[in-house]
Amino acid sequence: MAGQKKLTVVISQHQGKNPVKRQLEEELAMAFMLDPEIEVSIVPNLYDLSHDHSGLLFLQGIQGDVVVLSWLFPRATQWILDRTGVKGKAGTVFLVGEEDEEDEDQDEAEQKNPDAIGTLDVPDRLIYSIDLRASTDAQEFLDEIRRIVDVTSTETVDLMSWIQGEPKKEQLERYLNPQEILGIGNSDTGSVATGSIAEVEAEEKVRRRWYPVIDYDRCTNCMECIDFCLFGVYGVDALDRILVEAQDSCKKGCPACSRVCPENAIVFPQHKTPAIAGSAGEVAGLKIDLSQLFGGGDAVEMAARERDIELVRDGRDAVGMAVGIPKRQADSCGVRDELDDLIDGLDDLDL
Ligand code: SF4
Ligand code: SF4
Repeated sequence: MAGQKKLTVVISQHQGKNPVKRQLEEELAMAFMLDPEIEVSIVPNLYDLSHDHSGLLFLQGIQGDVVVLSWLFPRATQWILDRTGVKGKAGTVFLVGEEDEEDEDQDEAEQKNPDAIGTLDVPDRLIYSIDLRASTDAQEFLDEIRRIVDVTSTETVDLMSWIQGEPKKEQLERYLNPQEILGIGNSDTGSVATGSIAEVEAEEKVRRRWYPVIDYDRCTNCMECIDFCLFGVYGVDALDRILVEAQDSCKKGCPACSRVCPENAIVFPQHKTPAIAGSAGEVAGLKIDLSQLFGGGDAVEMAARERDIELVRDGRDAVGMAVGIPKRQADSCGVRDELDDLIDGLDDLDL
C-alpha cells in the first residue's frame, strides 16, 4: 500500500495529569489532525514506555522524518529514542527553552565530544525533538512544525511494512484499534480515535520509571559507570560498548552515576536539576564546563553517599569511597581542584 507524503508528529504525554499540560497536548493534537500533511499520534511519556508497549512499537515503525514533542530536554528525548531503536540524525529545532539555548558561537559538531563512541546504524532521516516546556503558546509549536513540514517530508507506510519481527497478538490488536493505543488516529483512513486521552491511559497503563540514559555523543566508553554502580544496571554489548542493561534495577530518584561520569554523558530525564536531566548545559545563565562541576570531588562524594543510601536500603553494607571510584576522582576529593578555581573565578566577576 503506497503511503502519502507526510510528516509524522508524535506527542509524548506528560507523566502527571496537570490540566494545563494536557490542554496543550490536546490543542496541538487537534490542530495537527486538521493538517493534511501531518500524521499525528499521542503516546504515553516516552521515558516510561516498556520495550513491548504498543506506543514504542509504533515509534519503531515510523519511517522517514519525525517530530517528537515531549516534556523532556531534546537531548534526553534523542537518547531515549536511540536506545529503543528509534534512530536518526537530530533535526535542527529553533523553538527551544531557556535552559537549552545553545551558545551561538558554538556549532553542533563542536559540542560533541570528539572521543565519544557515538551511536551505530543511524539511518538517513531526521528526528526533531521539541521540548513542550519551550513555550506555553500552542501557536509557537504550530509555527515551528509548519516550518519543519516545509523543509521535509516523509513517506508513511502500511501496517505490515512497519511491524518488524513478530508482534504479540494483543499488540497487533491494539494497533488495529488505534484509539486504544493512541489518542488520535489516522484522519485520512477514517480511523480517528473517539477515545479521550484518559481512556488511552486506562487501556495500556504505564508506570513511572527511573533509569539512566546514555548520551553516546559524549560517552567515551571509559566504563567508570559500570564500576561505580553496584546494582547491575550497566552492561556491555557484543562490541564491548557500554549500555544500560537492566533499566529497572536502577534506584528511583537516585542520580549517583551521573555525578561520576567524567563526560556528563549520563542523563536522568526526570531529575529536577536541568544539567542532570539533559539540558544543553546552561547553569545560572552562565555557560560553564559541566565536567568541572560534576567531576569535582564534592560531586563524587555526594554520589558515593547516594549509593550508600541505596545499598543500606537493600540491606547491604555501605562502601563509601572504597569501591568503584576511579583513582583520578578519589584523589581529587578534599583537595583544591579546578572546580574551586572556577567558582573563585565566578566570584571575582562580582555578578
Ligand atoms: S562513565 Fe560516562 S563516559 Fe564512561 S562509559 Fe559510563 S556513560 Fe560512558
Ligand atoms: S543511579 Fe545508582 S543504581 Fe542507578 S544506575 Fe546509577 S549508580 Fe546504578
